[in-house]
Formats: sequence, structure tokens, C-alpha cells
Amino acid sequence: MSIAQSLLEIVMDESRRHGLTRVDRVRLQIGALAAVVPDALTFCFGAVAQGTVASEAVLEIETVPVVARCPLCGERFEMEDLFDRCPDCGLVPAGMDLVSGREMTLMSIEGETDEDGETDERNQGACRPQHSGSE
Ligand SMILES: [Zn+2]
Repeated sequence: MSIAQSLLEIVMDESRRHGLTRVDRVRLQIGALAAVVPDALTFCFGAVAQGTVASEAVLEIETVPVVARCPLCGERFEMEDLFDRCPDCGLVPAGMDLVSGREMTLMSIEGETDEDGETDERNQGACRPQHSGSE
């Protein structure tokens, strides 16, 4: 639930900044290692967003692959799971540097402004909530 709450805070922040009176759509990218289940996040977000401008918002969640860098040969590769070896030198992943895969990134928010009711879409920068454990 805390992930949904931090997401809601970001969404509310952005919707205030852009003068949205209703949020229709929130696009997210979630790393495969972020330990976020999209269905659970959608459900929890719907619960915490009750009574806010985002109460009707649809979450569009895209899962992005984990990218690791081999410390031995420097090869970058996508990990299917945490037990993949380096495709170049066969090193086991204990020493791998994870380049991406733990983060949750807010891609965009769509909604309506109070001015003319037109759809407003803005690209947002990356957000890395505390739970993500990246870096
Ligand atoms: Zn390697």
C-alpha cells in the first residue's frame, strides 16, 4: 500500500502543478525487480485515490527488463531472472551491477484542466521512491 501512496502523492503533486481537475490516465514503468505486482498496485492505487482527482485514473503499467552489467567483462545484458549468467563470459550474477530494473518511473499523466477541459499530457521525470532500493 505504501507504494500506491507514494505514487498517489506524486500524481497529486503533478496534477496540482499542471492544474488538472481530473486525472484520467497514469503511465508507469516498473522494473522487473521492483517487487511491484501491477494488479496489486492498480488495486491499491484505486483504494488510496478515493476522493481525490485521481479516483477514476487508469494505471497503464509497463514492466521494463532488468539490465545488468558484468563486472568482469563489462557486458551489458537483460536478465530474464536473477540466475542468468553473463552471456559473454559466463560469470554467475552474484557480482553483477544492476543498471536498471528496481525503479518505478512515472512516464506521464493525462487528465483534464479546469480551463477548457482539453486533454493535457505531460512527460514527467523519473521518480525513485524510497522503497525501490536502487542506487
Ligand atoms: Zn561477463
